[in-house]
Amino acid sequence: MKQREAIDSYDIAVVGAGMVGAAAACLLARAGFSVAILEREEPQPFDGSGDVGLRVSALSPGSIDILAEAGAWRQIERLRHAPYGRMRVEDRDEHTVMEFDAAEFGLEQLGVIVENELVQWTLWQSLLAMGGARLHCPDQLIGLECEPDRQLLSLASGKQLACRLLVAADGINSGVRSLLGIEQDFWEYGQQGLVSVVQTATPNPGLAWQRFLEGGPLAFLPLEHGASSIVWSLPEARASRLLELDDDAFLAELGQAASGGEGHWPDQPVSCGPRAAFPLTMRLSKTYRAKRAVLIGDAAHAVHPLAGQGVNLGLLDAAGLAEVLIAARREGVPFASEKVLEKYARWRRSEAEVMARGMHSIRGIFIPEELGPLRRFGMGLISSSWTAKEAFIRRATGRHRNAPALARGASLTELLHPSV
Ligand SMILES: Cc1cc2nc3c(=O)[nH]c(=O)nc-3n(C[C@H](O)[C@H](O)[C@H](O)COP(=O)(O)OP(=O)(O)OC[C@H]3O[C@@H](n4cnc5c(N)ncnc54)[C@H](O)[C@@H]3O)c2cc1C
Repeated sequence: MKQREAIDSYDIAVVGAGMVGAAAACLLARAGFSVAILEREEPQPFDGSGDVGLRVSALSPGSIDILAEAGAWRQIERLRHAPYGRMRVEDRDEHTVMEFDAAEFGLEQLGVIVENELVQWTLWQSLLAMGGARLHCPDQLIGLECEPDRQLLSLASGKQLACRLLVAADGINSGVRSLLGIEQDFWEYGQQGLVSVVQTATPNPGLAWQRFLEGGPLAFLPLEHGASSIVWSLPEARASRLLELDDDAFLAELGQAASGGEGHWPDQPVSCGPRAAFPLTMRLSKTYRAKRAVLIGDAAHAVHPLAGQGVNLGLLDAAGLAEVLIAARREGVPFASEKVLEKYARWRRSEAEVMARGMHSIRGIFIPEELGPLRRFGMGLISSSWTAKEAFIRRATGRHRNAPALARGASLTELLHPSV
């Protein structure tokens, strides 16, 4: 028989301190919950004077607000980030185009490009400094037992923890999701996302540029000092071949894929850093909750990176979860009750479904060559309609009507004390 007294008990245990799990843990600890965080690998200290890392994300203004409430944004901003105010989407070549300008929508910026490891490291520092958070790292969850009033967690180190609510934030191949027996819908693309940092003959003018090519979209995202981070979605065989080319041969193929007429940017790529490729897949969990447990981030969903929404969606999950749990506690309802978790699960799953199906449809329209006339018609329609562009921008910035309050400018204090 286990000794209940000998086990550390928390309100909430978060498994996985990637960008999403760490942000959720910060928000929940700042809201007054006692939080245990389990992470198998300690994040590496971030060196802002080193080369830009290969994994970057385009963070929306809504995500920036969430990271600010998590206590991390000011430090990220100080260390390294690249804001962008313009976005251009092309179909095959530069002649069919959609353009978005932050100023047109009364925004200062459309988003910022930041390195994933910087976001994770800064959130980690925030957690270390917080009274209500306890880090268990390096450690992993190996067993789970749901008792009527708590989850009992067995860790690889031999420790046991108890919590009222378990939050699975352990990424796309979530072991917690498997332990909970939650299934997923899959869309496999047989594609890889090739990433690298490149310099072009003319520096990136603060533009997030994307072209839909027959094999998949190619994006150039702005970094500091005029460099660009590229994400090139490609059939697996071509991605493997491009990884093996020497730099000059790779830059020649990249230049051809991004080329345009006089004055077109990107112009010729002139140098590149290391290259890597990641499998692209779309996944959506059939439910986001089990008894005393919820899923957030890539553990819950994975979307095609063509709209750069994966981590943004995950940060909205973190903010949505905090909002629902804070409201429950304020109203005197047990925060890990089925009713409360169902509210979170329905809300966030329906949002992810809109995004996953939307990305899937966009991909379906942009890949086949024969759908060129339909694409040109659709892009022309959106370009000429301010209302359509505005709806697109609202969702891309994470500030649409159904987004969590923290992404729409509310503070944790306002959620905790609505009358203040
Ligand atoms: C090529 C590419 C480009 C992308 N570009 C963008 C973009 O521009 N914008 C965007 O929003 N998204 C983008 N994404 C998606 C984005 O990278 C992911 O959505 C995001 O990294 C998911 O974060 P996460 O914290 O949910 O999961 P992860 O980053 O996978 O973190 C999971 C954490 O859990 C830990 N863990 C795992 N198992 C255990 C365990 N058993 N016990 C303890 N800890 C565990 C891991 O060590 C890790 O720290 C892109 C993805 C790809 C592939």
